[in-house]
Amino acid sequence: MKLESYWLDTAPPFTEGAEGKVPPHADVVVVGGGFTGLSAALALARSGASVVLLEAGRVAGEASGRNGGQCNTGLAHDYADLAARLGEQNARAFYKAYDSAVDTVERLVRDEGIDCDFRRCGKLKVAAKPEHYAKLQRIHEQLRTSVDPGVQLVAPERLGEEIGSRSFHGGLLQKDGAQMHMGKFGVGLAAAAARAGARVYESAAVTAIERQAGGYRLSCARGTVTAGQVFLATGNSSLGPFRHFRRRLVSVGSFIIATEPLDKATLDEIAPTRRNYVTTKNIGNYFRITPDDRLLFGGRARFALSNPKSDQKSGRILADTMTEFFPQLEQTRIDYCWGGLVDMTADRLPRAGRHEGMFYSLGYSGHGVQMSVHMGQLMAEIMAGRTDLNPWRDLDWPSIPGYFGKAWFLPLVGAYYKLQDRLH
Ligand SMILES: Cc1cc2nc3c(=O)[nH]c(=O)nc-3n(C[C@H](O)[C@H](O)[C@H](O)COP(=O)(O)OP(=O)(O)OC[C@H]3O[C@@H](n4cnc5c(N)ncnc54)[C@H](O)[C@@H]3O)c2cc1C
Repeated sequence: MKLESYWLDTAPPFTEGAEGKVPPHADVVVVGGGFTGLSAALALARSGASVVLLEAGRVAGEASGRNGGQCNTGLAHDYADLAARLGEQNARAFYKAYDSAVDTVERLVRDEGIDCDFRRCGKLKVAAKPEHYAKLQRIHEQLRTSVDPGVQLVAPERLGEEIGSRSFHGGLLQKDGAQMHMGKFGVGLAAAAARAGARVYESAAVTAIERQAGGYRLSCARGTVTAGQVFLATGNSSLGPFRHFRRRLVSVGSFIIATEPLDKATLDEIAPTRRNYVTTKNIGNYFRITPDDRLLFGGRARFALSNPKSDQKSGRILADTMTEFFPQLEQTRIDYCWGGLVDMTADRLPRAGRHEGMFYSLGYSGHGVQMSVHMGQLMAEIMAGRTDLNPWRDLDWPSIPGYFGKAWFLPLVGAYYKLQDRLH
């Protein structure tokens, strides 16, 4: 079993990276080479700016290349709760922003000719307990009448047409969700940005940013560069001068295993419609079939951070859950096991705006494949003055009380949600 991301292990190498020292000046420096930063670098370079992107490791090497492979439409929140809290108009706008975000990914894949197995497969949320189906029925009615007329219920007696498991009790289908190979997409996006003129530096961790007349001076492992504008696309980074964001974002580990390739008969049995699947529990699971026929199965197996030992421990829990859902996979080999960090905000909505004059887009809270790509594109326009395009512009973002970057409360939160899952 390889303790590394299946997406990164099976992606082509990125060969268009910039060599040597960073140049002395650029119009814009983008910090972070995940989907947010790469998408922004592409759009900024296309708009005519000189762009330098500084990535601490390899492009798409963190959350963007380590995720569950789902590129879903719609909000992950309970729509009625959000509408009650923020107003129907905001809830609808946020929901629609995710639909537009999947369109953005599809457009970029097409326009840039990125070979990444993008397909609109739909997302099926499956009820983990019989009583959860009643909740899905309520959600279906809310979404259908307020924001998403295409959403469909899958009754318990018809669920076998969608998934070969006795663990579930009906489902909710959002037909326009998509999936793709995250490593191939990340490398393809980086290559597109480089082709458009952005200089993409890997192994270039930013260690300091100083304000100076007319802009900023950034120090990184590959030299010093000044810029009129800076865009921070770092996720919740533990590297570099981002204390302000560390008081607002919490990193939560999420873990994934991928099986050996499965034969067609097994695939047709367990996932006849080859959708993206998520379960209704608070500490639930997500899974899909990869382009080369593996079952990729993830979840927040434990409230822990990701490191090789922790990933393996979580992998064992995931393998047990996988065979509980699909006993037919009892003898199936697990080929990959890895983890990654999800950058959560307190309300699980992203934040984008300006801090000390620098632009940022962060905090996608586990629902960021599509939104990171979309926000990257939008940020190029927002940085040119179109702040009205920012879906998150009116959300305030206070620091989390008593939190300075070490999430002492995570085990308590985990215990609370586990109890909720047991009781409801
Ligand atoms: C295990 C897991 C499963 C997930 N599953 C899904 C899913 O199925 N669907 C979905 O929609 N979302 C999912 N997500 C979330 C999604 O992957 C992220 O929201 C999205 O990729 C965020 O992209 P990003 O570019 O903002 O951040 P990242 O991809 O984390 O990129 C940030 C980059 O900044 C770099 N960086 C940090 N500090 C510095 C510095 N000082 N100098 C230079 N560079 C720096 C990092 O090295 C990193 O490459 C998942 C996340 C994880 C971890």
